[in-house]
Amino acid sequence: MQEIQELYPFLHTPSKMVITTHQKPDPDALGSSLGLYHLLIQLGHTVQVISPTNWAAFLEWMPGAQTVLNYEISIDKCNKIIQEADYIFCLDFNSLNRTKKMEPVLANATGKRILIDHHREPQTEVFAYGISDVNKSSTCEMIYDFIIHSGHSEKLNNEMMQCLYAGVMGDTGSFRFQSTTATVFEMVADFKRRGLNHTPIHENIYDNFLENRFRFIGHVLLNRMQVDYELNTALISVTKQDLLRYQIKTGDTEGLVNYPLGIQGIKLAALVIDRDEKRKWSFRSKGDFDCNTFARRHFNGGGHFNAAGGERDESLEENVQLFKTVIQEYKSQLETF
Ligand code: 5GP
Ligand code: MN
Repeated sequence: MQEIQELYPFLHTPSKMVITTHQKPDPDALGSSLGLYHLLIQLGHTVQVISPTNWAAFLEWMPGAQTVLNYEISIDKCNKIIQEADYIFCLDFNSLNRTKKMEPVLANATGKRILIDHHREPQTEVFAYGISDVNKSSTCEMIYDFIIHSGHSEKLNNEMMQCLYAGVMGDTGSFRFQSTTATVFEMVADFKRRGLNHTPIHENIYDNFLENRFRFIGHVLLNRMQVDYELNTALISVTKQDLLRYQIKTGDTEGLVNYPLGIQGIKLAALVIDRDEKRKWSFRSKGDFDCNTFARRHFNGGGHFNAAGGERDESLEENVQLFKTVIQEYKSQLETF
């Protein structure tokens, strides 16, 4: 993988470009994709953002979201666009299997794949150019750096700032995690000086749910959360029936895993959801518990040090049992804060 700066000269030649991200894109994934989209169209490129799956309704307000293709709905059209692309930007993920059904067409594409990402252990061999930096708060911050370092700061318009702000806000837990460095606040200060109104962005993302989602959270916290004070661990397991009963849609479970971390002394919070094909896991920790390694070792996943995810095929009950068994191996780490 060559350094990202090597790509800058090619940005001046109008080309066919695809931007893609991980399945079920979150604010950072979609925000970075659309932030980059608004730069590349201003530079005269033909650009298509493709998401491997659908996304949460609370992301629909993002400028450009209406132009994004859902791969699962427009497979033939997307395959053709990917096959004809000169460049394929891969944002906010670092191994092609995070794009689900898109993986083979991405792997076989003749266009150059470009990585911009902040997760651990990137699959660098499949990318022609790229930057992978686990110290970055978000992929959106990396897109901001890309815009500035490639000499296009004058192209930074309100649409781009809205998308990028949303992603940084999402990935930093609204600017509270350790990843919120001075450069994050400098970027936000730059956005504010350029006229960004940030309050509606918080409201669009966090105050944009239906009543049923809060009834669901009430039910889950009351009936589906188990707390183990010996291991300072909390586990929430959500059944298929819960999802049906409360008409839970993509995005409604976002943030659910964070609730148990608000309990005094809890060091690790885990959430498992009985999704259609798989049992999907989320892990969040405080301090020195490494969620990325834990998710990789036991749940076919990965992510960041304090936030990771994974998935397994076995039933919900088997997954819960597996978690309770493997977590014992980490007793010495978890019992001390
Ligand atoms: P979440 O729990 O919000 O779905 O994901 C937390 C973090 O872990 C995100 O950065 C996400 O991209 C990553 N992640 C979630 N699920 C998986 C997975 O199945 N595999 C890998 N490699 N990363 C994941
Ligand atoms: Mn991210």
